[in-house]
Amino acid sequence: MASRRHEVIRHGYASFFGAPLVGDISRLRADVAFLGVPFDHATNDRPGSRFGPAAIRDASMRYRSVNSAGWYDVERSRLILQGITMADVGDVDIRTTDLLDNFQRITAAVRRVRATGALPVLIGGDHSIAFPAVRAFDDKPLTIVQFDAHQDYTDERAGVRYSYDNQMRRIHELPFVQRLVLIGLRGHLENLEAWQAAQANGVQMVTAHHIATVGVEEALADLEIDGDAYLTIDIDVLDPSVAPGTGFPAPGGLTYYQLKAALLNVISRCQLTGLDLTEVNPVYDSTGITARTAAHILLDVLGAAFPSE
Ligand code: MN
Ligand code: MN
Repeated sequence: MASRRHEVIRHGYASFFGAPLVGDISRLRADVAFLGVPFDHATNDRPGSRFGPAAIRDASMRYRSVNSAGWYDVERSRLILQGITMADVGDVDIRTTDLLDNFQRITAAVRRVRATGALPVLIGGDHSIAFPAVRAFDDKPLTIVQFDAHQDYTDERAGVRYSYDNQMRRIHELPFVQRLVLIGLRGHLENLEAWQAAQANGVQMVTAHHIATVGVEEALADLEIDGDAYLTIDIDVLDPSVAPGTGFPAPGGLTYYQLKAALLNVISRCQLTGLDLTEVNPVYDSTGITARTAAHILLDVLGAAFPSE
């Protein structure tokens, strides 16, 4: 871009990490495809995560790396993502219609991205979007790894079966989902049905307190994780002092380094086939730190999923 150094008007729009915008997914040719999901209809407490994709897009522009040159990860002392091509395929066309109709749009969008061979990276949005996202991976046995302060494993409450508190239960019911791992759980549970069902159904759970007590490597050592895996990251797995901009914060969360170590640990043991990052809520992110931290987490995950020589 040196030849444009003296221009006085900057053209174009924000995209994830400055990656090319691809409007026609059938023309997508990239290793990684970011897909925004500006959806928070399944929230009952503090809405606003529908603005998450735009905020993370904007934040990630500060970390853009031109020409697939990659980034130098200071903590790992290595270059990451050199030569890995990325694209921004825009946002799912969320409409003011019923929730399940929007879920269909999300599933269809993920299927279209997957058909090109790109790794789908969904940016939410509330955490309910993980269910329509995972539905699009029905061609293979799948391990699901959830990073979250909460279980989101409620079967139904007052007749509601699809919300940001039910999606992990719905995902676990899918016939191709082999196992569910939850990392970062904490707090005072008021829903014993979800807790008991998760234990009865063999959900592998690692609490944030256990990680804080024995360290990431020991806390994750006994987890059964292998094969194709889908990662679903609720930003509230981080401590609210690290990521305050979220709808349902809980004290006692992971530090950035603990989360990074846990993500690297998990990804080293499986084949990453898709991921989402949800619950960044700019309404409560007065400094913008949560959106920026989300951008760093995306680079960490992708840097681990596409190891350089
Ligand atoms: Mn949560
Ligand atoms: Mn969640």
